[in-house]
Amino acid sequence: MIDSFMPMGASETCGIVAVAGHPEAAKMVYLGLYALQHRGQESAGIVSSDGKQIYSHVGDGRVSSVFTQKELESLPGNLAIGHVRYSTTGASAHKNSQPILVKYKGGLMAIAHNGNITNASILKDELESRGAIFQTTTDSELLLHLIAQSSCKNFEETLYSSLIRLKGSYSILLLHGDRLIVMRDPRGFKPLCIGSLDDAHVFASESCALDIMGARLERDVKPGEIIRLENNAIKSERPFAPVEQSFCVFEYIYFCRPDSIVEGKSVHEIRHRLGAQLAEEHPIEADVVIPVPDSSNSAALGFSRQSGIPFDLGLIRSHYVGRTFIQPTQKIRDFGARVKYNTIKSILNNKRVVVVDDSIVRGTTSKQIVTMLRNGGAKEIHFLSSAPPWKFPCYFGIDTPSEQELIANTQTIDKIREYIGSDTLGYTSLQGMLKVMHQDMTYCCACFDGKYPGGKPDIFRKDILEI
Ligand code: SF4
Repeated sequence: MIDSFMPMGASETCGIVAVAGHPEAAKMVYLGLYALQHRGQESAGIVSSDGKQIYSHVGDGRVSSVFTQKELESLPGNLAIGHVRYSTTGASAHKNSQPILVKYKGGLMAIAHNGNITNASILKDELESRGAIFQTTTDSELLLHLIAQSSCKNFEETLYSSLIRLKGSYSILLLHGDRLIVMRDPRGFKPLCIGSLDDAHVFASESCALDIMGARLERDVKPGEIIRLENNAIKSERPFAPVEQSFCVFEYIYFCRPDSIVEGKSVHEIRHRLGAQLAEEHPIEADVVIPVPDSSNSAALGFSRQSGIPFDLGLIRSHYVGRTFIQPTQKIRDFGARVKYNTIKSILNNKRVVVVDDSIVRGTTSKQIVTMLRNGGAKEIHFLSSAPPWKFPCYFGIDTPSEQELIANTQTIDKIREYIGSDTLGYTSLQGMLKVMHQDMTYCCACFDGKYPGGKPDIFRKDILEI
């Protein structure tokens, strides 16, 4: 389901990378962003520091189109932070590209944020009433204003007193002059890991960003941890009152790359186990198991190994569909799915097909996929979701449809099956999903069970942030 041309389902979250203490910090961040492209294709940006000045380049589109050799040469210094964006709050405008760079009484600072501040509208009203002028419509800018308006005496106090005001999810990289500060919210919703590259320190949303630059994964930033890098030495503290960890379970199911190690766990292995669990819960007689590529590959493989039904590729995904894709004026049936996928008819022809997807959001994509598989010759289609029924919106960092648009919120499983047109339909149960997750962690599963960690954010008003 991962693609920028995704008008019907859930949208992705953002990706962040920082490198400190490396002579080619910006180029390393560029590589890291390239590996995190799946977390956002709307814009990309890097801010670097050489200790005297701060340099910035941000642009719309994918990393490879935003940066040329010339732009990377214009980002000197041994410290750099970067961001790839998929809008979760704020309009999809160029001004919302990150890192956001501002000048205030304490100097220059830049922020790269992954997550969603759920009390953003209240904080924004308050800050504006005290004279703040926001240059973006994103929630990420809030921390910069809180810092700028703080009356605390030193930066440490300023930072802590600002962070304590934020509710929701954040993994943040803050470049402040020639210093780097790295933060994760107390519940640890969004991933953030630490790596080392010779004498340099690397921070990234996922470990696949470390791999591409040849860095070694050291550990994850802990929930509620604030890390300061001064003179290339790590200073860590966890100043917040401890709360239960609420790591986003959907990071494992869909967002992260399968080759990433997140919170010490292989994403591929978790997805593989989810597929095996799905096979245990839904025994089916069929000829072939196919994934909806690419995010369901590992789960479909797990299903195949557990059930003994051969795995194959019945759907092929185009990797080259961009946001600026121009559609023909004349309507073509199931066009959205056709642009992304095509079938291999020799795999499907006259077969009983199990198709595994990572999730079903509105059901429109699933319906189009079922139609494509039928047109490709499938005799029976058994549609399975490795995630439980998605019933509730997410407020912590992804852009999901409203409750009414989430098909599992309003329809029974049989009605959904009827709508998408498959012969059978099954989901991994919530209990089954939690069984295959690691027991040494606690997760946010709110989109499946409606139990929002810390309570449902009833003050979340998207309109104030001009979506
Ligand atoms: S509501 Fe769902 S998508 Fe959002 S943070 Fe929780 S598990 Fe992740």
